[in-house]
Amino acid sequence: MSDGVMSVGEGTRIFPDVEACIDCGGCVVACKRTWDVPRDEQRISISTMLEGQEGADGMNAASGRALEAGENPGETAIPMQCYHCSDAPCVSVCPTDSLIKTDGDFVDVRDDLCIGCQYCLSACPFGAPQFPEEDEGAAKLFGTGGTMDKCTMCEERQDVGKGPACAEECATDAILVGSPGEIADEMEKRDSGVFFNDVAMNIIFGENAGEFA
Ligand code: SF4
Ligand code: SF4
Repeated sequence: MSDGVMSVGEGTRIFPDVEACIDCGGCVVACKRTWDVPRDEQRISISTMLEGQEGADGMNAASGRALEAGENPGETAIPMQCYHCSDAPCVSVCPTDSLIKTDGDFVDVRDDLCIGCQYCLSACPFGAPQFPEEDEGAAKLFGTGGTMDKCTMCEERQDVGKGPACAEECATDAILVGSPGEIADEMEKRDSGVFFNDVAMNIIFGENAGEFA
């Protein structure tokens, strides 16, 4: 396993260390290759803000901590994907219960129930839901916006003890996988600041958000 994957299985989370991300796109390639994702779709994408700008502590440095201090974070690359939120707004709004929490506490899409209404896309703070052009199942019947697709947390890989492909192949271990406590400890060990605000952290980690000091 990569150093970013500390444990897999029930109750684990996936979370970016934005101070470690170098915007190389390795995670995007790993995901697409592993799951044969269509060319025009990405289950993970790198959102780069303030490109080319130097932050308070220089280029690509301490952006999370700079933001916490109210300073300019400078260029920051954020791996955006489904974080399998504890308090998932997408699950709350889906009118057909296509989105469910699994026994492992991950968020799954039941393709056959999705009608392509895209409510989940409006509800998700992280832009995770994708809508490939091809409609399937109920979305085909309704002729709406395509069946929702997103990161599966590589549950099939986890079943055989492997971490999600994006995290395993990240050259700088910028994608962390483990229990909320393990992720918080690793961030602290690295002295990496959390880039998301308290509302987002509560959505992702629920009652465990307090582990991130
Ligand atoms: S709200 Fe977005 S990131 Fe959170 S579980 Fe739903 S799709 Fe994933
Ligand atoms: S697009 Fe599908 S998964 Fe998303 S809210 Fe609508 S029915 Fe649920």
